[in-house]
Amino acid sequence: MTEKVLECDEGRLKDIEYNYSKIEENISNAAIKAGKAREDITFLAATKTVEPVYINHAISCGLKYIGENRVQELLAKYDYYDLKSSQLHFIGHLQSNKIRQIVGKVSLIQSVDSIKLAKEISRQSQMKNISTDILIEVNIGGEESKSGVSAEKLEALLEEISVLDNISVKGLMTIPPICDKKSDICNYFSRMRKLFVDISGKKMDNVNMEFLSMGMSSDYTEAILEGANMVRIGSALFGPRIYK
Ligand SMILES: *Cc1c(COP(=O)(O)O)cnc(C)c1O
Repeated sequence: MTEKVLECDEGRLKDIEYNYSKIEENISNAAIKAGKAREDITFLAATKTVEPVYINHAISCGLKYIGENRVQELLAKYDYYDLKSSQLHFIGHLQSNKIRQIVGKVSLIQSVDSIKLAKEISRQSQMKNISTDILIEVNIGGEESKSGVSAEKLEALLEEISVLDNISVKGLMTIPPICDKKSDICNYFSRMRKLFVDISGKKMDNVNMEFLSMGMSSDYTEAILEGANMVRIGSALFGPRIYK
């Protein structure tokens, strides 16, 4: 691991710098079009498969949020992230038996979709005497193969979570179905925004709609125009993923 941290590709570092400033510019422009300011949008880098040296280079460019989606990979890389200048989120599919390993290490878990997971996060947080922030992942396309709670069951889930201790809901996250047409994906984003606004209007303990996390490399500008205030970007920043 140490060797991997030291050896790095200078060309890739330059690409990351270029991509970072391009994405920043795109986010700024989209924010303005959406009637917001750059500071209203959180840019999180999805860092799966990316070695810490490249992640930390992006952080040195100004990146403030990173997200991993596998517990094992997060733990292997954990000591190498520059977490003095950035915050770490968990954004992937979660199993309740792995929760213990990330509670206290991440500042936000974006992918909670069941009462079972929420209860375990609450329990582990109580044992560590901390409170854990989460987003609820919504399966907005109703796809059987995907994680996320259905739009229909979202409110009931939030009500159940709201009575748990040491856990706080900060918003919603989604990965919409793959669409050929931009208009189809915008439709899913807009449905998410409606849910977000709808839930914002309800008063539930420990539930605050601060973050609407949607939009990835291919569609983050559309997502911002449809109301996203957090985008999760991987390949557009780090280049194509190489699975080993
Ligand atoms: C990988 C990943 C992303 C980013 O994907 P890109 O298309 O590479 O931008 C966003 N969200 C989640 C949950 C991911 O796993």
